[in-house]
Amino acid sequence: MSLLPGCDASVLDAWFARDYTGAHRNFAEACDHAGITRRFVQHPGTGPAGEPVGISVARLGPLCADRILVILSGVHGPELMCGSAIQTGLLQTGMLGALSPDTAVLMVHAVNPWGAAYASRTNEDNIDLCRNFVDFNAPLPVNAGYRAIARAFHSQAEDGDALLAEFARQHGTLALNTAMWGGQYEEPSGFSFGGHAPAWSRLVLESVLREHVGSAQRIVVVDCHSGVGPYGYGLAVCMQAGTALERVRKMFGHWVLAPREAGAGDYYPVTGHASDGYESWFEGRELSAIVLEFGTYDLQHTSGVMRAEQRLRHHGDSIRAPEAIRHDVVEAYCPADPAWRYAVWTRALQVVEQSIAGLHT
Ligand SMILES: [Zn+2]
Repeated sequence: MSLLPGCDASVLDAWFARDYTGAHRNFAEACDHAGITRRFVQHPGTGPAGEPVGISVARLGPLCADRILVILSGVHGPELMCGSAIQTGLLQTGMLGALSPDTAVLMVHAVNPWGAAYASRTNEDNIDLCRNFVDFNAPLPVNAGYRAIARAFHSQAEDGDALLAEFARQHGTLALNTAMWGGQYEEPSGFSFGGHAPAWSRLVLESVLREHVGSAQRIVVVDCHSGVGPYGYGLAVCMQAGTALERVRKMFGHWVLAPREAGAGDYYPVTGHASDGYESWFEGRELSAIVLEFGTYDLQHTSGVMRAEQRLRHHGDSIRAPEAIRHDVVEAYCPADPAWRYAVWTRALQVVEQSIAGLHT
């Protein structure tokens, strides 16, 4: 029995690729199926086999739309597999076919195509794009906690784990998460590096969004991620504050998590988040931006997998084979479990419905 259109297990399975090439093909075929034009912005680098990689942009609805829903995938490389499946499914099932004439949907596929091709969270310069949206003409944020744990990302796994565990024992889990994931601007080969200049992906994203949002006054951005939160649950996270956060909570529920608000538990605040970019580009408009974060495994597991990938990339001292590490990374961010995939799809449909409804209230 299928509870929702398009939810047959084999159909769902086909939407979830295991690498960049598969995700790119799925999205391209879905655009063809939906009869919409797709623009490919080629990245200056290539994939592991020398293949071209890039960002795909597709749009439904009129260019003069006053309301627009933007759906992003793959800001963090291996998380593309989850977000791409959502974008592909929405086009393959025709779920967005009945938009009102003043509404558009923009899909930006593989925002970090290099990272997706190499199963790396970060981009070609080891930049975590979600820490790159700072003003590089102003003094850069300082993450003092990161300095204390930086060595963990260079040493063998046993030493690194012990160092992180000791830091957590002394300062608490929130302090560890902030030190590790909050963003740092000092060590280019380190973890959560935010960059020293705007990244290629940031520049392309800004240009694409400015062009397609046009003069729309109501904007909802759903940025699809995976790897944080309870397994199979699609957590809506909002980096905005004040009336924007209130509006987001009206749209998606009062449980929307706001890490920059006091009392967000072990959820860490970050610097240079993409939401800060949208807010500066669309100042004065009604912007509602969420990260839709699908939980996979616990943070300790995903952190360990990411550290293995980082050591492989920067130091070549992997304990396991590169292919095994890349497989671990994809599985850590997009489990093959059919129940997880079903949960992703049903939650994504709910969020898209809420977004469209929110654009019209
Ligand atoms: Zn992410």
